[in-house]
Amino acid sequence: MPELPEVETIVRGLDKRITGDTIESVWIGSRPQILKSPAASIAAALEGRKVVRVHRAGKHIVVDLAGAAGTTLSAGKRGSRARSTGGSVKKTRKKAQDGSRADEGVRATPTAGQWIIHLGMTGRTVVCEPTDEIAKHTHLIAKLASGRELRFIDPRMFGKLSVHASGFDPGGIEPLEVTEDQFMALFRRRKTPIKSALLNQKLLRGVGNIYADESLFRAGIRPRRRASSLTKDQLRRLYRAVQEVLAEAIALGGSSVSDYVDADGEEGFFQLQHRVYGRENEPCLVCKSGIRRIVIVGRSSHYCPQCQK
Ligand SMILES: [Zn+2]
Repeated sequence: MPELPEVETIVRGLDKRITGDTIESVWIGSRPQILKSPAASIAAALEGRKVVRVHRAGKHIVVDLAGAAGTTLSAGKRGSRARSTGGSVKKTRKKAQDGSRADEGVRATPTAGQWIIHLGMTGRTVVCEPTDEIAKHTHLIAKLASGRELRFIDPRMFGKLSVHASGFDPGGIEPLEVTEDQFMALFRRRKTPIKSALLNQKLLRGVGNIYADESLFRAGIRPRRRASSLTKDQLRRLYRAVQEVLAEAIALGGSSVSDYVDADGEEGFFQLQHRVYGRENEPCLVCKSGIRRIVIVGRSSHYCPQCQK
């Protein structure tokens, strides 16, 4: 399951590959499970639009789009040229009204809309040539003006595709942007185990199971400890550990990005070497005690009984 560092890696790869390109047309498969917006709305929001940026919000991939919705490619091109020369909002709006499928829940604005991709468990994005074989479980193909295609593939269909007008916000604070003070305030009064608080997406967005376990190990805190029982010093150590673990994983991911985005996706990522996650009964890398595994609100948690208090 892709976690924040993997999504960040994918996002950087996509940003490099498709920013500046225009989506000419979109094919959407017949499986509705992954569509959080109606297929017609997604097609209308994407077709004729230029990709201006790909970024991350929690574990969501956010594709910022410009150009009038639902217009033909030539109209889309005219729209974006108008903007780059300081074209007026009025002009763009008019284009949107002209478009036959414009505005199905998605308003045309000058910085016209966002395409949100959540990879779920097994979702992946692939930028490839149109002649490349279409993988099983391909749910969306966006034909790009450059001649390439962006495909979304998801065998287990826990992924989600949707479109938003602008300012998509999944809630919570970005773990890589949260300040130490904000971090302390988020967890100080929580009565829940610190592990579940770390996984609570309304507090920090995008910290998953693996990185929560690894951060708690580095901070020397047992996953079951009540968040409110942690000292300031422990919270401070946890803050630093979360940042460190995510940054290290992103740095490692950066080198494997081409494999993941271009190829069939089986290559995966260079993983951060896990110190506790998935190492039940194996010796702790620090003290040689056996790593323990417990279940907290349905999720496996791994810790060292000696190093974590
Ligand atoms: Zn240990």
